[in-house]
Amino acid sequence: MPGVLHVDTLLTVYLMVAVLMLGVLVGGAWQARGRYGLWFWTGAFAAVVLAQSARDWAVLEGGPAPLLTLGHIGGVVSAGLVALGVRAFLGLRLHWLALLLAMLVMALLSIVVVSLGQPLGVSLSLSLFGAGLLRAVALWPLVRALRQEFSFPLSLMATDQALSMLAHWLRGWMVMPGPATPAAQTEQANALWLLAFIALLLTQGFALLLLVNQRLTHKILALVEIDPLTGLLNRRGLDDRMLRLHQRAATSQRPLQLAAAMLDLDHFKLINDRHGHAVGDQVLVELGHRLQQQVRASDLAVRLGGEEFVVLWFDVGADSATSMAERLRQSVEQVAFATDAGPLHVGVSIGVASQGAAGEPLEALLKRADAALYEAKRMGRHRVVNAG
Ligand code: GH3
Ligand code: MG
Ligand code: MG
Repeated sequence: MPGVLHVDTLLTVYLMVAVLMLGVLVGGAWQARGRYGLWFWTGAFAAVVLAQSARDWAVLEGGPAPLLTLGHIGGVVSAGLVALGVRAFLGLRLHWLALLLAMLVMALLSIVVVSLGQPLGVSLSLSLFGAGLLRAVALWPLVRALRQEFSFPLSLMATDQALSMLAHWLRGWMVMPGPATPAAQTEQANALWLLAFIALLLTQGFALLLLVNQRLTHKILALVEIDPLTGLLNRRGLDDRMLRLHQRAATSQRPLQLAAAMLDLDHFKLINDRHGHAVGDQVLVELGHRLQQQVRASDLAVRLGGEEFVVLWFDVGADSATSMAERLRQSVEQVAFATDAGPLHVGVSIGVASQGAAGEPLEALLKRADAALYEAKRMGRHRVVNAG
């Protein structure tokens, strides 16, 4: 379809996309007060807009040759700022001086080469190789983050940076005066390349929006579902997990076999009264750590409120639940809690219940565990009672 795609039109589209993304990002970065490295990302789009506009102006005015490389130098600066943006988003050390130097050297090299009278292609491919290199620098921490925890927004951004890196290198090789094939220089080939770069720019913007959205969602969920003192799930977090587990159990037709241990510290009020609320808090934090260490990753340790905690075991029968609860009790009572008031020995009472009939609602299970806990208190504390 020769003649359908025009480089000039596409250059305008490229500029428009960059301007629109820049507008969205300036607003977003300002709103988020620059969190998530958004000013770097804003800079990355601004570099494209400025360089592209300057290049268009230079072409119109018939400016000197070095000005014609501006669009590609914008690509180098943009890639460097993306590398910084990725590092800031992931909370890594920026190494901004090294990256800034790399950007400057590459940009200067392109200008010097073309000023020395070398063909424009040499300068262009230099900046394209440089931009590709900086995309690799942006890609590396994304891949490492992905290996730790997979997420769609992260993989979209990593894919975009990887494709961008390859596209820059391939294009850099093609515009080199030596190996370039005549086809590589045709209007159609140039237009297709531009289309690819527009798609990469758009995807980069959308991936960034998804990443920020994911970060915010995680933050809100943590605020709503995590107890800030101990870092354990709270009651709301427990309800949410249980809802999802019940749904999964219903679809897999494999009923949950749950056991619950309800824990309540013995005479905790005395610790607060004798040593102050802050020391009481230290005991609760340490208790949270101990519970978390004792349960498997698939089990749940929850702070229901105050000094009441619940541990939920999956696929566990009544007998092993009681012995595991006994182990929990010993892990609390046998090792003193380190506090600002010195080491404190703390007692705990535990009520255990396990799902007898499959599908017993969590509410009923916890109620039975609570009744057993009440019985443990009544019998003199420091013990485990099974609801039977
Ligand atoms: P029992 O053996 O019967 O359980 O006695 P207790 O003193 O532990 O029981 P009670 O439920 O009467 O007291 C619980 C205390 O826990 C009262 C409250 O001040 C304290 N508490 C609740 N939440 C917190 C908290 O977040 N931090 C601290 N430091 N204390 C808390
Ligand atoms: Mg208590
Ligand atoms: Mg209590």
